[in-house]
Amino acid sequence: MPPRLHLWLQRLSNRWVIKTGFLLFFCSAVYQLLRFEQWARGNGPYVRRPEIVGGLLPIGHFTSFFAWVRGGGWDTLLPAGLVIIIGAITVSFAFKRGFCGWICPVGTVWEACAELGRRLIGRNIKVFRWLDLLGRGVRYLLAAAFMLMLLMVVPLPEAVGFRELPYMWVADLKIIHLMAEPGWIATALVAAALSVLFGPVWCRYLCPLGGLYSAVGVLSPATVERDAGACIHCHRCSEVCHAFVEPERTARVWAPECDGCMDCVRACPVDGCLEARAFSRVRIAAWMWPVLVVGSWLIIYGFAVALGQWHSGLPPQAFKQAIEQGIIEQRTRGFFE
Ligand code: SF4
Ligand code: SF4
Repeated sequence: MPPRLHLWLQRLSNRWVIKTGFLLFFCSAVYQLLRFEQWARGNGPYVRRPEIVGGLLPIGHFTSFFAWVRGGGWDTLLPAGLVIIIGAITVSFAFKRGFCGWICPVGTVWEACAELGRRLIGRNIKVFRWLDLLGRGVRYLLAAAFMLMLLMVVPLPEAVGFRELPYMWVADLKIIHLMAEPGWIATALVAAALSVLFGPVWCRYLCPLGGLYSAVGVLSPATVERDAGACIHCHRCSEVCHAFVEPERTARVWAPECDGCMDCVRACPVDGCLEARAFSRVRIAAWMWPVLVVGSWLIIYGFAVALGQWHSGLPPQAFKQAIEQGIIEQRTRGFFE
């Protein structure tokens, strides 16, 4: 490959370029949703409701997703939420938690804080091993409890019925409004400060979805592998790993915390020593990995659109009515009220 082309591929496939792109896209969708709300309140022109904001409602859409898994039927009212979940699980299974590593806009915010910390103090502080294990254990427990509750505890008719509540239709707006409240802002600032010091604490210790994606990522057929014979033990791969994984100590990176960022592969000075591989056979170039992650995501999205399973089956007037009813303003409603 010509060196200039290789250089450009390396630059364009930089994870910050791709993550920032997804974050900006998501922010523009949130802005569009707020304009849709203004239209519904009679304060502006009509704009289409962006479906991608379904990503703001993981609990509601996971409820709907597991209702579908249990035979409750596909959600035709807000199908984008289910498509996003299927996309996230698929990408995370195929490419080592690729959703967290390359797409999730929330993770990008915490990762940016962690990167700031690395630039300011040279590194993120690694907490005691026992504390790290305990914290990660909490995340997996949260993930397991969350999934088991939706699979076995919540009655199926109630889970299916949840989709039909106007509460669910405007819950994304409700969350956006909640995020502007002092309590949420204070919590976010604490999480940001902790992320600057210790790395993205929300992603590593608390996010139950991250726990699910990490668990499926362990089964991924594609991962980073090291040729022990070629390794010169320069430690660079372990030093650049933002997830505190140590590729230098293993022949194959199994660690659930690895999100396939490819930083270690790019940092390795020995040609062919550290590489991403599928089924331990097919080499995946560092620039190709994000192309595959984003490409898989876009293919799933494209299929959903082509099959008419992306856009909401609700007319704009239904959302307008829910907004006019003041559901967004109502506080502390029970999840299944
Ligand atoms: S640096 Fe390597 S081991 Fe660490 S998260 Fe990225 S791909 Fe995984
Ligand atoms: S960066 Fe490459 S050569 Fe250096 S320790 Fe890691 S795998 Fe070995």
